Amino acid sequence: MRSQLLAGLLVILTALLPQHSLAEEDAEKWQEIKGKHFIVHYKGEKKLAESIASRAEKYYRQIAEDLGHNRHDNFWLWENRAKIYLHENHAAYMKATGAPGWSRGRANYAMKQIDSYATSMTFLDTVLPHELTHLILRDFLGFKGEVPLWLDEGIAQWEEKGNRSIRIEHARTLAKKGKLMSVSELGNMTPQELRKSENPADFYAQAISLVGYLIEQHGSEKFGKLCRSLRSGGKLDDALRFTYPQSVRNIVALEEAWKAHVLSAPAKRKQ
Ligand SMILES: [Zn+2]
Repeated sequence: MRSQLLAGLLVILTALLPQHSLAEEDAEKWQEIKGKHFIVHYKGEKKLAESIASRAEKYYRQIAEDLGHNRHDNFWLWENRAKIYLHENHAAYMKATGAPGWSRGRANYAMKQIDSYATSMTFLDTVLPHELTHLILRDFLGFKGEVPLWLDEGIAQWEEKGNRSIRIEHARTLAKKGKLMSVSELGNMTPQELRKSENPADFYAQAISLVGYLIEQHGSEKFGKLCRSLRSGGKLDDALRFTYPQSVRNIVALEEAWKAHVLSAPAKRKQ
């Protein structure tokens, strides 16, 4: 379980790194597949690139739906399509992006681009939906890089589907030991602090648990409303009161309800 958590984190932490653009000398060798919202650039097998193009469209619809964004078709069309660069292998990916050895994929928000590599076993199921969520959160909901970290990483992990149970179970273990952070502490976490943290897995587990609680218990539409209310720099307390006036209307109410939910949730959840 620990090794699975760590493997997941290697993917997640890449989003926190500085971004580099693609090496220009490689440009002429790339081939591309153009979909409705994505252009997949690849050098190897066409079949794999095609399956990535179709999976990306599926994730796009699902993520937009989970964010309560029902006008998603207007985004990322034609010249505004997002780019996916599938490098030949891990070494080529590292060389082109400057990413460290443990990195499996990354999202460049400014260029609306995701980089990974053809032999990454985790790309389709984890890196792609995770990094896509980071891009969509900014583009659809209008965040300008000021997304609260727990919300950003929480929703990105939530969309990785296959990793939900193990991370939510991790949060439950923390809850049983009385080690859950307060919602305020989660909200104060910065990428710099997280990088230095001894147990980053704890933060990620709590982030997905909190986001999962809001989406499952209060619905996607309201979650989208909460995101939009936070994007202009609004305080969490105000955004909660505006979005959930009848239930988790402030940080104290949210924390109480979330912690009770974590402890009461069944050990095995559906994916
Ligand atoms: Zn991430």
